[in-house]
Amino acid sequence: MADEPIVLEMHNIVKQFGDFRANDEINLQVRRGQIHALLGENGAGKSTLMNQLSGLLQPTSGDILINGQKITVDSPAKAAELGIGMVHQHFMLMDAFTVTENIILGSEPVNGMKLDIKKASQDIKKLSKKYRLDVNPDALAGDISVGMQQRVEILKTLYRGADILIFDEPTAVLTPQEIDELMGIMRHLASEGKSIILITHKLDEIKAVADQVTVIRRGKSIDSFPVAGVSLQELADIMVGRSVSLY
Ligand code: ADP
Ligand code: MG
Repeated sequence: MADEPIVLEMHNIVKQFGDFRANDEINLQVRRGQIHALLGENGAGKSTLMNQLSGLLQPTSGDILINGQKITVDSPAKAAELGIGMVHQHFMLMDAFTVTENIILGSEPVNGMKLDIKKASQDIKKLSKKYRLDVNPDALAGDISVGMQQRVEILKTLYRGADILIFDEPTAVLTPQEIDELMGIMRHLASEGKSIILITHKLDEIKAVADQVTVIRRGKSIDSFPVAGVSLQELADIMVGRSVSLY
């Protein structure tokens, strides 16, 4: 894992909202095939950081590099083009349409190519199988469970070519069984070379699934380290800033 290439680097990211500095020189390095947790209390600045990666916000200053290239993410469409996929927490599916229709409707045809619905539908089925999402592409979005709706959101990002998937507090709306299944899906995505950024303040989730954790406290990236060998207590201490020796 440690020798996999760095696919994403956020360097000295500052995000200012008026006088308030929500991100204060944050650094983040994510490797290929890594599940990278962003840990921090509510209000620490995690979502703000990821909104700059997904094209919803522009950094006040700082650099974003994808595969070593400095890039500008000036819109969500640009993020998708760069292989960055946000798995939305509030699912944006249209109930009266099928899973396939929802995925296609949200994806702009590339290079002005005419959309081939049949091919798109086959591609979606293949992706669902490859990434073990077990989605029924013909089901109506309004008829499927919340856990399944989330999988459709995952599938949507994969269909658009995402290599880096961002999950912002993804388990808040899930049942315990759905949480277990999501963890399995994340592990499988990572084993297939996808990079996962998991925003959470739930320490047990980090222990269960993450490889690496970067801790954000009051807008600053405090530390980044492998999860293996760190206890829940140590994670809790470093999240809130109690003094702790990790090594
Ligand atoms: P987290 O995701 O870690 O809980 P956020 O990134 O959502 O934290 O928010 C970090 C801080 O930035 C909070 O104090 C929040 O109120 C503030 N904030 C977020 N978005 C805006 C905005 N658009 N304008 C002003 N302040 C904001
Ligand atoms: Mg947040």
